[in-house]
Amino acid sequence: MKTKLTFYGGVSEIGGNKILLEQGGTRIFLDMGKSFDFGENYFVQYLSPRISRVGLKDHFALGLLPEIPGLYSEEMLEQTDLEYEAPRFQAVFLSHIHFDHSSHVHLIDPQIPVYLGEGTKVILDSWEETSRGSLFGERDFRTFRTGDAIDIDGIEVRPIHVDHSVPAAYGYVIHTDAGTLAYTGDLRRHGTHAKMTDDFLEEAQEADFLICEGTRVEPTETRKNYTESEVLSNATSVVEKAQGKLVATTFYPRDVDRMKTFHRVARETGRKFVISTRTAKLLMSLSEDPGIEVPDVFKDENILIYARHLLKRPGWEKELMDHTVDAEFVHKNQKELILQLDFHYFTEFVDIDPSPGGHFIHSMSEPFEEDDVEDEVKHNWLDRFKFNFHQYHASGHCSKEEIFDILKTIDAKKVFPVHTEHPEMFKKAARGVVPPELGKTYEL
Ligand SMILES: [Zn+2]
Ligand SMILES: [Zn+2]
Repeated sequence: MKTKLTFYGGVSEIGGNKILLEQGGTRIFLDMGKSFDFGENYFVQYLSPRISRVGLKDHFALGLLPEIPGLYSEEMLEQTDLEYEAPRFQAVFLSHIHFDHSSHVHLIDPQIPVYLGEGTKVILDSWEETSRGSLFGERDFRTFRTGDAIDIDGIEVRPIHVDHSVPAAYGYVIHTDAGTLAYTGDLRRHGTHAKMTDDFLEEAQEADFLICEGTRVEPTETRKNYTESEVLSNATSVVEKAQGKLVATTFYPRDVDRMKTFHRVARETGRKFVISTRTAKLLMSLSEDPGIEVPDVFKDENILIYARHLLKRPGWEKELMDHTVDAEFVHKNQKELILQLDFHYFTEFVDIDPSPGGHFIHSMSEPFEEDDVEDEVKHNWLDRFKFNFHQYHASGHCSKEEIFDILKTIDAKKVFPVHTEHPEMFKKAARGVVPPELGKTYEL
């Protein structure tokens, strides 16, 4: 039977992966992501798609999503010209929880099984509990671990862990009639779990076909990237020099490795790490997963939880309240703390009133655009409270050299670059590079 790939997302852009694998009547999706700039040509600020009222009508009219029969839920199609029909897809496999790989799951028929790592499900559940509304809705979730082999009507899918900036990230090695296909998902080699990526690459060695991410494959890399251990040492020296002053930091909400890095910085500098209630909740959920090591937020003597002053506290925060500290505590003890504070909660600085001359460690990507409005506002706040600014971040992705190295060692017959703005550059390092076109089908 013929085996085919169609790329509905992640094409010449970073993120939004949506890759269809077909063999005979078997059809499975690898990821169901939403691209970072999804719909931004038509929607801005309050001008947004009317999804709760008209489902996918706006999306189809503007060509933002493909009109694929048997994929979307009945509810999403009610107001559109595409008629609802029973699912024509057997599975969606998510590589990890980042929204550029998972976010469009909420649009698809709830009867289509969604396969995801056990840890990914834990993160998803914690996220759902601490957000308003449901992210993916009720559906047929099926979890896996590394080493499982999942047979979908003759296609064998083997998930293998990789290191990325969120726990429970996977690559796939897939056995088809045409040969072995490997899909990297998002991966890196400079993090604290490089061994996981090695495990995946070892199994991917046999791949005849490779779908490979290339986030950092670009002519010149303009943003500074560190390894996780460099983030640790740089942050430690900032804290050591910050005597008598508050140190605050921002990182991606599900970057557990970064949480652990700052926890370690706190331990080694004799400070306490004050985390948000959401972070506390995520760590509590993850502590139940034997495959993921996290500190015990209630017992660890270097961890405190910051509670914002709220008029009405959400139910999930209540069990944390005996262990929390408030703005006044942070103000009084600022020289002994490292405070995690997300940009959206910068108004807390008004209540905390930190002494001038504190340090702020921005531990996430630098802005992609030069005139980034959010970045400007961020700096206005930090300047207003007289923080010294530091940028230390370890990317979730392999460098260009590492990707090229992977291409050379796997040496697949065909390579499909995804999750990159520069697919053509892959030709420098691999034979049989096929830069995919959006919506086009390729036979393996
Ligand atoms: Zn991604
Ligand atoms: Zn990712």
